[in-house]
Amino acid sequence: MNKPSSLIWMVFILIFIVPTPAGKFILDLAGGIFLLITIIPLILGGIGWFTWKRIQSKLQVCEVCGSSFFNTHTICPICGERTTITNTKDILENIPASSATIDIKSENIDL
Ligand SMILES: [Zn+2]
Repeated sequence: MNKPSSLIWMVFILIFIVPTPAGKFILDLAGGIFLLITIIPLILGGIGWFTWKRIQSKLQVCEVCGSSFFNTHTICPICGERTTITNTKDILENIPASSATIDIKSENIDL
């Protein structure tokens, strides 16, 4: 028995058994297996995504080289730059808002 003839048998079985209740049962079973095969990777992917998000929340990005590392470290493992800022809220609060307006005013005086 070579592969093409077995394929023909498969097609023959599909055509003559699938319309019968037994064939429907086999199809349902195959559908269930197919669902399991498709759902399991989805669930695993979801778990993976959640763990990645959890890891990401614990990560911080280096201001100097842009590499990300766990915020338990205060010194960047890539470039050795010391980072004290842990979240974006602190960055926004630390930017002196007056400096930008002062620059604009000085430009106006120069003109
Ligand atoms: Zn760095």
